[in-house]
Amino acid sequence: MLTDATFKIPFPENEPVHAYVPGGQERKALDETLQAMKGEVMELPAFINGERIFDGEEKVSVHPPHEHAHTLGHFYRGTKQHVNDAIDAALSAKDAWAATPWQDRAAVFLRAADLLAGPFRHRMNAATMLGQSKNVFQSEIDAVAEMCDFFRFNAYFLSQVYEEQPLHSPTPLWNRMDHRPLEGFVFAITPFNFTSIAANLCAAPVMCGNVCVWKPSETQIYSAVVIMELFEAAGLPKGVINLIYTDGPVAGDIVFKHRDFAGLHFTGSTGVFQTLWKEIGENITKYRSYPRIVGETGGKDFVVAHPTAFPDQVAVGLLRGAFEFQGQKCSAASRAYLPSSLWPAIKERLVADMKTLKMGTVEDPANFINAVIDERAFDKIAAFIDVAKKASDAEIVAGGGYDKSVGYFIEPTVILTTNPHFKTMEEEIFGPVLTIYVYEDADWTEALKLVDETSPYALTGAVFATDRHAIIEATDALRNCAGNFYINDKPTGAVVGQQPFGGARGSGTNDKAGSILNLLRWISPRTIKENFNPPTDYRYPFLG
Ligand code: NAD
Repeated sequence: MLTDATFKIPFPENEPVHAYVPGGQERKALDETLQAMKGEVMELPAFINGERIFDGEEKVSVHPPHEHAHTLGHFYRGTKQHVNDAIDAALSAKDAWAATPWQDRAAVFLRAADLLAGPFRHRMNAATMLGQSKNVFQSEIDAVAEMCDFFRFNAYFLSQVYEEQPLHSPTPLWNRMDHRPLEGFVFAITPFNFTSIAANLCAAPVMCGNVCVWKPSETQIYSAVVIMELFEAAGLPKGVINLIYTDGPVAGDIVFKHRDFAGLHFTGSTGVFQTLWKEIGENITKYRSYPRIVGETGGKDFVVAHPTAFPDQVAVGLLRGAFEFQGQKCSAASRAYLPSSLWPAIKERLVADMKTLKMGTVEDPANFINAVIDERAFDKIAAFIDVAKKASDAEIVAGGGYDKSVGYFIEPTVILTTNPHFKTMEEEIFGPVLTIYVYEDADWTEALKLVDETSPYALTGAVFATDRHAIIEATDALRNCAGNFYINDKPTGAVVGQQPFGGARGSGTNDKAGSILNLLRWISPRTIKENFNPPTDYRYPFLG
C-alpha cells in the first residue's frame, strides 16, 4: 500500500448491549430474522480456501436444543482430506497475509465489528439463540457485544504490541523489534458455549498475521457459519481461516503431527486440553518451532459470603451467576459458602426469585431459562442431580426436575449439603446446578481455606461482604484460586477491556482472551540491530 504514516487504531469502546424490549421495533426485526432462519433448513458448509464444502463422511442434522424435533440444517462430518486441505490452504495463504500491512489486517476485523453491530446483528443473534439455546440477552452480550469488543480491542492492543521497541539505541546503533507471526499455522479448537470465543480464537492469532485451521464444537456449527460469512464480508482473504467439521481426535492426529503446526488456541474442558497437550508433547521433535499452547478450560466457580454481606445482593448474585445460560458458562457460580446467620434470608429470597423464573424456547421473551446444549449434557447434569437426591448428606432446596421430551430442559437447581466435599461441590457440572454449604459465622477463615482447597480449578469467584477487613482477608486468602475475582458482584459476565478473562491451575494457561497478553502468544519477535558506522579495526582500546 502506498502510504507513509504511523496509523492509529481508533480508541475502542464497548459495543452497547441492545435491550430488545418486547413489542419494540428492534425485537420485531430480530423476531423476523429468527422466524426466517427457523423456517429454512440450511446446508451448513465447511470453508476451505474460501470454498464452501458440502461433502463429508456423514450428514448430521442440527436442532435447537429447546425443540429437538425441529431441524435447522445439516452439516457434513469432515474427513481427513478436509484437514489436509485446510492446512494446505492456510499455508498457501500465509505469505501474502503475513505481508499484508498490519493496519490492513486490523481493518478487516474493525470492519467485521461494524458489520456485526449493523447488518449482521440479527442474524448472528438468531443463529446463536436457535443453535445454542440462548435467550436474546445472553446472545446479545456474547455473539454481538463481546465479539465486537474482541475485534476492536484486539486491533487496538495489536497497535500497542507493535509500538513496543527496545529502550536504547546508542550511537551508532539502531535497535528495533519486528513482531513476526509464528512460522506455520494455528489450530483453533472452540467450545459450544460462546459464539464470541469461537470467533476470537481464530481472529486473535490471525490479526497478528497468522493463518488458521478452525475446528468448532459440533453444537456451535450453526452460528460458526455466520461467523465465516461475516469474515468473508469484512474482506478476509481466502484460506486465512479454514473451518472444518472433522472429529477432534481425527483432526488432531493430522494437525499435531504436522511440521508446520505452530500453535493451539483452545477453549473447552480441562480433560480434553490435557489430552491435547500430551499429544503435542509426544510429537515435539516433529515441529519446526515449539508450538504455543493457549487453553482456557473448566471451572468450579465459587461465591463466598461474609456475615456482613447483604442477603438480597448475595441471592441475586447467586441466581444470575449460577443460572444464566443454564449455568453453561465456564465462570458460572456452582458452589457457594454462606454464613449460617444469613442463610435463612438468602434462601428465602433465592427460592422466591427462582419460582418466578420461566423456562422454555428462546422465541418467547419471557423465558429467562432455555435448554441445555444436547442430550449428552442433559444426561450428565441429570445424573448429578440424582446423586444429590439419593445422598444422605445433601438435599434439593429448589428445582431438581428435568425433562427431555421436547427440549433438553433442566430446572435451575439448588442443592444444600452438609459435606463441603460433596461431589457437586468439587466437580464441574456445566449446568444450572448450584450447591451450597453453610458454615458457622465464627468459621469464616476456615471457610476461605475450604474455598481455596476444594477444587482443582481457579477460574472465577466472588466474595460478598461489607466489612473491609473481611474483603481484604478474602482477597488475600483466595489470591490463587480465581483468575477473575469479584467483590460484591456475580462471578460471570467479564467484559473485554474491563475484566480480562482467564484462570490458572486446572482452568487454563491464563492468557487473558481479549487482552495484549493473549496477542503476545501469537507473535515471535525478531530483534534487529543495525550499525550505522561499523568498526574497521578489531583491536579494543584495552589492548593498548
Ligand atoms: P469440550 O472440551 O467438550 O470441547 C471443546 C472442543 O474440543 C470442541 O470443539 C470439541 O469438539 C473438541 N474436542 C473434544 N475432544 C477432542 C479431541 N480429543 N481432540 C481434538 N478436539 C477435541 O468443551 P465444550 O463442552 O464445548 O465446552 C465446555 C467446556 O469449556 C467447559 O469445561 C467450560 O468450563 C470450558 N470453557 C472454558 C472457558 C474459559 O474461558 N476458561 C470458556 C468457555 C468454556
